[in-house]
Amino acid sequence: RIVVVGSINADLSTRVARHPQPGETLHGTGGEVRPGGKGANQAAAAALQGGAVAMVGAVGDDAMASDALSVLSSSGADLSAVRTEEGPTGLAVVTVSDDGENTIVVVPGANASMNAARVRESTDLIAGAAVVVLQGEIPRDGIEEAARGTRGRLILNPAPVLELDRDVLLRADPLVVNEHEAALVLDLLEGDAGSSLAPEDLAHALRTAGIESLVITLGAEGALVGVSGADDDPRSDAAWSLVRVPAVRVRAVDTTGAGDAFVGSLAVRLAEGASLVDAARFATRVSAASVTREGAQTSYPRGGEELPGG
Ligand code: ADP
Repeated sequence: RIVVVGSINADLSTRVARHPQPGETLHGTGGEVRPGGKGANQAAAAALQGGAVAMVGAVGDDAMASDALSVLSSSGADLSAVRTEEGPTGLAVVTVSDDGENTIVVVPGANASMNAARVRESTDLIAGAAVVVLQGEIPRDGIEEAARGTRGRLILNPAPVLELDRDVLLRADPLVVNEHEAALVLDLLEGDAGSSLAPEDLAHALRTAGIESLVITLGAEGALVGVSGADDDPRSDAAWSLVRVPAVRVRAVDTTGAGDAFVGSLAVRLAEGASLVDAARFATRVSAASVTREGAQTSYPRGGEELPGG
């Protein structure tokens, strides 16, 4: 099965005409509390697509915990390795202005407890998983412990990018990053910021740095997949090549959590034995469905639902 080790948050979202200045109070709208956190989002996306998913993480002993788990607990995911810690649940306070600009304050809360010792309590679960999925929203040593304990396939989505050890980064199969994160990971591996590189060049540079299995997501442009096998790109060798998977065209309403829908659904297909390119094609369809509705987990399609791009 698929084991996701990562963050669980409640997202409190508000809308304002413009962002307040320090010391200023403005009226806003919204105020909904929705489930979030990259770990929980990815686990929910995978479980809703029919994956056999177990979540390893922590919530607080406050009222936000049930909001944070509201979708996940009805998604079919196994939550027996979700601990309740004293103190607050992870919280993201999101403010969106009329021009679409976000400000986000993330309080890690219980997610900060997911260190190596805590992750070690789920050693057997992690070692027994066909696919383990990790992000960057729990402490670095917790992520590294989970990566090193993985015996199956490791999907590593270092978002945000932490200073992970090189051996952990090189275990990724695949590494899933957006363009910004790709440049930061290249910097970690080569001490050389790739921020001025085009996505294809970033992919080749990451490959040279040792990342053989790679997905760079490109928002409405889809994704670039680096895989074993030849194609027409003159920089590819017989053992490795880049495939561009286009996004599915939809009317975007809210792209929050699209990257997490992509990672979760990618995990489902990879666990079923699909190729990385086929899994990425499926992931662009699930993530496209997610951008047509508000929120992260609340926007994710369920297994039986028809997906765009079919
Ligand atoms: P992140 O939010 O992590 O930066 P991206 O913005 O790259 O991730 O989005 C992840 C995936 O979601 C993309 O690869 C794409 O398949 C899909 N996606 C994102 N935005 C859109 C959009 N406007 N239309 C269709 N698909 C989208």
